[in-house]
Amino acid sequence: LAVPDFPALVDDLQRIHQEVRADRRGAVAAYIPQLARVDADQFAISVCTVDGQRFSIGDADVNFCLQSVSKTVSYCLTLEEHGPDTVHRHVGREPSGQGFNELTFNKAGLPHNPMINAGAIMSCALIRRGLDAADRFDYVAETWKRLAGGRSVGFNNSVYLSERSTADRNFALGYSMRERGAFPPGTDLLATLEFYFQCCSIEVDAQQLAVAAASLANAGVCPLTEDPVFSARTVRHCLSLMSSCGLYDFSGEFAFTIGLPAKSGVSGALMLVVPQLMGIAIWSPRLDAQGNSVRGIEVCRRLVDCYNIHTYDLL
Ligand code: GLN
Repeated sequence: LAVPDFPALVDDLQRIHQEVRADRRGAVAAYIPQLARVDADQFAISVCTVDGQRFSIGDADVNFCLQSVSKTVSYCLTLEEHGPDTVHRHVGREPSGQGFNELTFNKAGLPHNPMINAGAIMSCALIRRGLDAADRFDYVAETWKRLAGGRSVGFNNSVYLSERSTADRNFALGYSMRERGAFPPGTDLLATLEFYFQCCSIEVDAQQLAVAAASLANAGVCPLTEDPVFSARTVRHCLSLMSSCGLYDFSGEFAFTIGLPAKSGVSGALMLVVPQLMGIAIWSPRLDAQGNSVRGIEVCRRLVDCYNIHTYDLL
């Protein structure tokens, strides 16, 4: 068994959930009304091991939108389709050291990495360019479904509409990239941005996100269905960038204290990958100043306190 004493892990997660629930610091994202309105106190933790042992506690069957967590799978899809050499002619792989929607590019005029808005907009420009909008969306949603164990994912249309109508910064990022010649020739910018907002508006619950994280921990093969969704090489690249860039401008601090690949989103979702062991999803909507879930980070801290899961714990 990947986690030999699973009942002990369950006990610890129950204790951690109980303790961290008291933490009410932070504020829900308020840049669109649909996110501002969610019940801020909701809190879920869900775990899935690479051999399919599962446990969830709290609001683990409540849907939330992926937001920036969608950037992981979008990046994997570009790698599977084009390979890293082509993909990285259009997006860098260094942390930006800046906020997730900062209007800034690297020296080559490209997005710093695929885990911030500019880079994820680029991923959306690269995925299945030949398909029409509906089929491109189905392709991404179907990939999330396969990673999450085969149960369909949702789509929050009001989040999507509201993202689209308040998206000045993302439009600015798109036009800036176009001005710099960052996109492949023939890119339809408006269609690309709409596709990006749709990916952000895909909904899952914590149980599904934990299984998706476990699929990454398991080198791209879903532990529940044995479905080989991504190649091990694609997952290696994605986890590398999650480790260095997954938490916006908290990424360096997270790598230091937690030492694991993870990705956060403004909905309060946090996907944590313990390679070859398990995936963990934490969802709690109150965010800190960097836009990461306060309770999400706190759960990670406590887990690393009780288990030797920091990548360099065993050195
Ligand atoms: N929809 C958000 C945006 O594009 C996603 C950002 C995030 O989760 N940090 O601004």
